[in-house]
Amino acid sequence: MSTPGSTNTKSPERTCVACRLRGERDELVRVVVGPEQGLALDPRAVKSGRGAWVHPTKACVATMVKRHAAERSLKVEARRDLDAGALLAELRAAMAQRITSLLLVASRTKSLAIGAEAVDTAVAKGQAHLVLVAKDAGGNARSIAEGARRSAPYATKQEFGALLGRGEVSLLAIREARIAAELAATVDRLGTLED
Ligand SMILES: [Zn+2]
Repeated sequence: MSTPGSTNTKSPERTCVACRLRGERDELVRVVVGPEQGLALDPRAVKSGRGAWVHPTKACVATMVKRHAAERSLKVEARRDLDAGALLAELRAAMAQRITSLLLVASRTKSLAIGAEAVDTAVAKGQAHLVLVAKDAGGNARSIAEGARRSAPYATKQEFGALLGRGEVSLLAIREARIAAELAATVDRLGTLED
């Protein structure tokens, strides 16, 4: 599914080696031959050499590993020691890193409302394209998030605070549409990878 705001920037299509469905390049993750002929993820799609593509989902990564679909596509010998859990952990870490950098970009470009009061104002003014609510936030923060056009649970109050160099933060609002769209999509995908 394409996210709002991405309709004008359609990326070329790729085929998932696991489910064989085609998807936009941005919606799949590139897999390359890693050290010692193992497989490595290339989430930014910048590594040289042949690449295979897979949906960043538990099901597709598991199928890819079980059927050695990536090795076939990359024309290398099948690996016996492939670990779907390790690849998924790598994927989660890459997504969390992307979320952090998007939040920092939003902060730098003054597109980030921080804390209940600022987020409440942004929501009231219709400026909040996305509200992120800490998973351990209290009832007041949750009800502000519920009033937003779009909201998602992410991280903890302490993690938000550490990221922004301040104390605990329970709410963040993104006032810039493109950053909000990519953040929402990444937070959603990361959510599907967590148990
Ligand atoms: Zn797939």
